Amino acid sequence: MALERDERALAEIAATGRAQPFEKEYIRKDGSRVPVMLGATASEASRKEGVAFVLDLSERKHAEEKVRESEQRYRAVQTELAHASRVATLGQLTASIAHEVRQPVGATVTNAQAALRWLGAQPPNLQEVRQALTRIVKDGDRASQVVGRIHGFIKKTPSRKEAFEINASILEVIALTGGEAVKHGISVRTQLAEGLPVIQGDRIQLQQVILNLMMNAVEAMSGVPEGPRELLISTDKAESDGVFVAVRDSGPGLSPASLERAFEAFYTTKSGGLGMGLSICRSIIEAHGGRLWSMANEPRGAVFQFTVPYLQ
Ligand code: ADP
Repeated sequence: MALERDERALAEIAATGRAQPFEKEYIRKDGSRVPVMLGATASEASRKEGVAFVLDLSERKHAEEKVRESEQRYRAVQTELAHASRVATLGQLTASIAHEVRQPVGATVTNAQAALRWLGAQPPNLQEVRQALTRIVKDGDRASQVVGRIHGFIKKTPSRKEAFEINASILEVIALTGGEAVKHGISVRTQLAEGLPVIQGDRIQLQQVILNLMMNAVEAMSGVPEGPRELLISTDKAESDGVFVAVRDSGPGLSPASLERAFEAFYTTKSGGLGMGLSICRSIIEAHGGRLWSMANEPRGAVFQFTVPYLQ
């Protein structure tokens, strides 16, 4: 192969007077390899004379390798961090999620008991038994959906790209957090634009961003003693090609200091806060080629919004 490449360069010189620079490897006597770049130009007068150069690329290759390695490490750490943050957030939601599972399971037991009673009647009422069993199937499905969502969310998967609908993903996150919002007297509303094209990205990571923004909003509003507690999640087409998502709350809003520093790692105003949520969210959105920012909501509260391009 290498010889073939050399011959091609010679043929190139014969034909055009020069060989486009190309990369190859030399092998030292001790067997180690030296990456080099070669190039040559023949003199105008005679194609038999000219200048050639051999550039040792070892340093550059080494540096490139190092950059690749540290990028890989960075991505691995980021995946770990994102995963840990998802687990922590779900931990906060445990009570609400447990309630969502307990409810259909409880209903299943009640329906099963009713079915047994209808079976034991003289004569057995099969019509009622069938209805009870149908309800059992529905409740079983509901419980398994909740568990499936948690499982999907907690699974540690390396970052991957798939095509998905942002609206459906938002509704799934609301299904997980809805209970927590209700517990704090918060009404959750959506305004989801129709006909949005699918986006390409890591669905779980983007759901993590939405989950984080929603939980921040719930926490912010829970601290306000008065006034309506409203959480509005809306989607739209972004001005640039992409989707636009906004999470609005009617909480206390961001103080001037928070407005400036909210996205910094370890910045938190909560006693039990870690201050990593928004910084992880921002790096996820930026890795998707989008932008995440915040501003004041009208008449009060905060808005966190982000864009994600359709295709990258
Ligand atoms: P944490 O939630 O652990 O504090 P975050 O990075 O998610 O970490 O948030 C950083 C800070 O930004 C919060 O401590 C809070 O002061 C502010 N913040 C975030 N979301 C909101 C919101 N919806 N309303 C008011 N302040 C917020």
